[in-house]
Amino acid sequence: MMEATRLLDEARQLGADWFDWKWQMKNRITTVEGLERYIRLTPEEKENITRCLSLFRMAVTPYYASLMDPVDPMCPVRLQAVPRIEETVILPCELADPLGEDRDSPVKNIVHRYPDRVLLLVTHQCSMYCRHCTRRRTVGEEDHTITASELDDAVRYIESNPRIRDVLVSGGDPLTLSDETLERILSRLRAIDHVEIIRIGTRVPAVMPMRITPELLSMLKKYQPVWINTHFNHPKELTPLALKACGEIVDAGIPLGNQSVLLRHINDNAETMKQLLLKLVKGRVRPYYLYQCDLSRGIGHFRTRVETGISIMKALTGNISGYALPKFVIDAPGGGGKIPVSYNYVQSIDDSQVVMRNYRGDIYVYPQPPDLRDGPEPPGKTE
Ligand code: SF4
Repeated sequence: MMEATRLLDEARQLGADWFDWKWQMKNRITTVEGLERYIRLTPEEKENITRCLSLFRMAVTPYYASLMDPVDPMCPVRLQAVPRIEETVILPCELADPLGEDRDSPVKNIVHRYPDRVLLLVTHQCSMYCRHCTRRRTVGEEDHTITASELDDAVRYIESNPRIRDVLVSGGDPLTLSDETLERILSRLRAIDHVEIIRIGTRVPAVMPMRITPELLSMLKKYQPVWINTHFNHPKELTPLALKACGEIVDAGIPLGNQSVLLRHINDNAETMKQLLLKLVKGRVRPYYLYQCDLSRGIGHFRTRVETGISIMKALTGNISGYALPKFVIDAPGGGGKIPVSYNYVQSIDDSQVVMRNYRGDIYVYPQPPDLRDGPEPPGKTE
C-alpha cells in the first residue's frame, strides 16, 4: 500500500508523463545525485556507488526507484538496482561470459545451443541494469541495437536451419525498442515457415510496466503464437501497475511465464518465495524457472548455496499448487545448459518397486508393472 501511495505521489509531482514509458526511459537514474532523490545514502555508500560505476553501469527507471525503501539499504528492490561495493570483488570462478554464449554463437547476435531453438539478441539496452545480471558483459556497456545487416545475417541463419522451431528474442530487453523496430524483427521471424513460436524475454513488466501499451499488444498479436517470459524476483515488485501490465499481456492471448533468480537477502527463503509465486499465479503469470545465480563477474554476493534453493523448493512442494512451482535449475557454467536440481523423492528403485517419500516425509511404495519381456507377444505383432 505504501508503495502504491509513493508511486502516485511521484506521479502527481511529475505529471502525466510519469506513465509514459518513453519518459521513464529518458529519465532513468544514472548518477548518485539522481538516486538521492529516492533514497538516503551515507557518504560511504555514495563513494562505493561511484567506485562501482567505474566498472559497471547503472540505470534505474523512476518507477522502479519509487519502490525502493528510502532508508533500508537491505530493501529487496534497492539491492537489485543500486550498486554495492561487493561488486568490485571479482572472484576467480567468475566469468565475463559465464554461460559460454559467445562460443555457441554461429553468427553475431545468435546463440544456438539446443537443437530446435535459438536466442536472438536484439539489443544491449535495458530499462534497468539489474545488479545480478548474467549478461553484464554486454548489457549496460553500450546501447547497441541490432543493425539491419546484422538482422539479415541472423534471419538467414535461422532460415537455413529448418530444425529451429522456436526463437527467443532477448537482449538486453527487447521491449526497450520502439514498436516499429520490434515489429521489423518479429515480421522477419514470422515469415520463416519453420519458426513455430516466438518468445520474448523481458523485465519490463517488473521495472517499467507502463511499456505494456495497447499499441504494443496489438502489434504483438499480429505475430502469434508469441510467448513472453518476464522476470520478477520479489513480491514487492508485483505492484498494482505491474499486475495490470501482466493481466493485459494475458488478455491479449499471450501466455506469460516468469523466471526468477535465487538471490541472497532478496528471495532466499521459503516464505518470500511462496509469496512471490502465489502472487504471480494470482496475476496469471506462470512461474517457469528459478535460477541458481550465475557466475557473472562481481555478483558473488548475490549467490546462495545450492542447497538453499533445493530446500526452498522442498518446503514449497506439496504445500502450494503445482502451477505455482517453477523448475529450480543451474545454468551450467561454460555452456552446459539448464540442469534441473531437486530433492530426491525416490529412495530406491528396482525391478519390483519404487520406494518414495512424499512431501511430508512419509514413505510410499509403487509396484512396477509385470515384466512382459518373457510373456506373450502383444496382439498384432508379427515377425
Ligand atoms: S533486464 Fe535482464 S538483461 Fe537487462 S540487466 Fe536485468 S537481467 Fe540483465
